[in-house]
Amino acid sequence: MMNQIKIKNLKIFAYHGVYDQEKEQGQNFVVNAVLYVDTEGAGESDQIADAVDYGAVCLFMDEYLRENRFDLLEAVTRHTARELLFAFPGIQKLELEVEKPDAPIPLRFKSVSVRIEMGWHRIYVALGSNMGDRLKFLERAVSNLQEDPCFRNIRVSDYMETAPYGGVEQDDFLNGVMEAETIYSPRELLKRLQREEQLAGRVRDVRWGPRTLDLDILFYDDLVLTERDLFVPHLDMKNRKFVLEPLSELAPFLVHPVYRRTVRELLAELDGKDADAG
Ligand code: ATP
Ligand code: CA
Ligand code: CA
Repeated sequence: MMNQIKIKNLKIFAYHGVYDQEKEQGQNFVVNAVLYVDTEGAGESDQIADAVDYGAVCLFMDEYLRENRFDLLEAVTRHTARELLFAFPGIQKLELEVEKPDAPIPLRFKSVSVRIEMGWHRIYVALGSNMGDRLKFLERAVSNLQEDPCFRNIRVSDYMETAPYGGVEQDDFLNGVMEAETIYSPRELLKRLQREEQLAGRVRDVRWGPRTLDLDILFYDDLVLTERDLFVPHLDMKNRKFVLEPLSELAPFLVHPVYRRTVRELLAELDGKDADAG
C-alpha cells in the first residue's frame, strides 16, 4: 500500500540561475514535494525506523540545494529528485516542484516553477550473446549495470544455451533475463543498454546476426509503448522460449499488459505449439 507524504512550501535560500546576480546574491526557492512510500509498516508499528523520515528529507533538500549550483530550475529539480531517491530507498516515487518566487522578471507574478515526477520502475531485460566469451559478456554487462546507481535490486535468471533464432547461420546463444528497478525512463534505459552493447564491442550489421551482447527491454512496469524505435513489451517474446523460460524463472505470474496472460501461460502455450509442430 502506498501512502503519500506531502511537504509544502519548504523555503531554501540558494544560488541557482543563469544571471550573475542570481549566482552571486542568491534568492529564495520554495520546494513542494509528494513522496510515495510504503508506510503500511510504519502505520502499524508507529516506529520512526519503519518510516521515511520527512524531517531528514527536508534537511537533505535544504543542504543539496544550498551546496550545489545549477543554471536551470529543470536541472535543480531533476538532480534533487535523483539524489532523494538514492538517499531514501523507502521512497518509491516522488513529485517535486521547485519555485522561484523572486525570479528576475520585471513583471508582477507569484512564482515560476518546474515540476517533475521520478521513481523506481520494475523492468525485465533479455540478455543474449553468441560471440567470444559469451558468459563473460553477459556477466560483465550485469555487473556494470549493478554499479550504476540508477538500477537497484537486480536479479538474474540462470543462463541457457539456445540455437540461433531467425534463420541466420551462426553459433549458439547464451540467453538469460535480468530483473531490476530503475529510475531511467524507457528511452533513457534503451540508450543505457545500447551503451553497454557498445562497450562489449557490438557491431550492428546483420539483423538477428551474431553479436557479443544483445540487451532487449522486455517489460517496463505494465507500460505499453509503440514508437518507431521502441516497442514495450518486446514484440516477439511470445515466440521465444529463450526469453519466456528464464523470465518465468524470475516472474512466472507477471501479467503481459497486452495479451493479459501470465508469463507461465505464454510459455505453456509456446511449448504446446512446439509439441504440435512435432
Ligand atoms: P529483436 O528485437 O527482434 O530481438 P535484435 O535484438 O537483433 O532483434 P537489434 O539490432 O538489437 O535487434 O535492435 C534493433 C532496434 O530495435 C534497436 O535499435 C531499437 O531501437 C529497437 N527496439 C525496439 N524495441 C526495443 C526493445 N523493447 N528493446 C530493445 N530494442 C528495441
Ligand atoms: Ca534481441
Ligand atoms: Ca536488440
